Amino acid sequence: MERLVRSCYKQGGYVFAKKAGSSAHGAVSDRIARLASNENPEAPSPAAIAAVQQAVLAANRYPDERVDVLVSALRAHYGEYTFVTGVGMDGVIETLMRTLVDPGETVAVSIPTFSFYGLAAQAQGAKVVAVPRQADFSVDTGALVRAGKDAKIVVLCTPNNPTGNATSVDDVKRILDEINGVLFLDNAYVEFSTIDYLSLMRQYENLVIGRTFSKVHSLAGLRIGYAFVPAWLQPFYLRAGTPFTVNSVSAAAAAAALTDKEHAARYIAQVLTWRKRFAAELKYPALPSDANFVMVDVAPHTGDEVVEHLAKRGVLVRSCRSFTGLADHYIRVSVGEDWENERCVRELNAL
Ligand code: PMP
Repeated sequence: MERLVRSCYKQGGYVFAKKAGSSAHGAVSDRIARLASNENPEAPSPAAIAAVQQAVLAANRYPDERVDVLVSALRAHYGEYTFVTGVGMDGVIETLMRTLVDPGETVAVSIPTFSFYGLAAQAQGAKVVAVPRQADFSVDTGALVRAGKDAKIVVLCTPNNPTGNATSVDDVKRILDEINGVLFLDNAYVEFSTIDYLSLMRQYENLVIGRTFSKVHSLAGLRIGYAFVPAWLQPFYLRAGTPFTVNSVSAAAAAAALTDKEHAARYIAQVLTWRKRFAAELKYPALPSDANFVMVDVAPHTGDEVVEHLAKRGVLVRSCRSFTGLADHYIRVSVGEDWENERCVRELNAL
């Protein structure tokens, strides 16, 4: 019966990071350092937990279809922008593709990068054009503009997963000026950088900036993403989206998390400290990063070998082998708690 499945799902698919308890089975320690998924290691803000407890009492009711509680909180936090929400930024990406891309149209993606853009574009029957970055992983804006000139969507992740580097506002402007479609700027990690792309929202009608509560806000398990969109796009996005996709409990948690600035600031400070420490203490080169992770060049080993080696020693990191357009000798290490990062440095340096 598998012949009935769409060809784009017959192979491939999203590659998940290894989980504690699977790959780390048999590890020397029963405490696993979880540095594979770029999560904030701290529990959610007490404000978010209290909001969950309150919101669940009304979970017999359907959620508000416009997710007003969250959109209002986003306006209070950022100002009068137009927002849309989704089930994680993954959900935002999926709905954006559904809103804009007809079968056969082009989606151009700057690679190596997060893989879900290509998968979500393929699900719409899009032609995905991958545009390689330069050798130092900076964006080849000329090539991206040429390939993406007539694309429906051009996708740029900044700071980029997994390389960690950010693209300058001027380069983003150059792309926006030259393309005929929408630029989707993935800002999942922007809270860990000092670059501010938001001023561009007032200047361009073709910019969408995606963000998430999964990283700095410690809510990965509740699946909340959002995007700054131009006003023209919002009604169509709402029409294309699955009804009631963002649930009321998650929306309340996210709205409350935004108010706890100390919670976010604690992890940002930890990230700034450890980006420096990883660069200084690891015996393998850690690439400069604007995100809450570093990509480490583990040559002459492969990323897969190192991931297996570390997993046996109670440290989960991500091999970058599944990122198209990247050599096989990189791993990605998230900033976790001190003991996790310290164990990672110790075990990696022993290799
Ligand atoms: N974009 C990037 C660059 C990511 O790394 C991730 C998650 N790892 C996402 C989007 C999806 O985030 P979310 O959990 O909000 O779906």
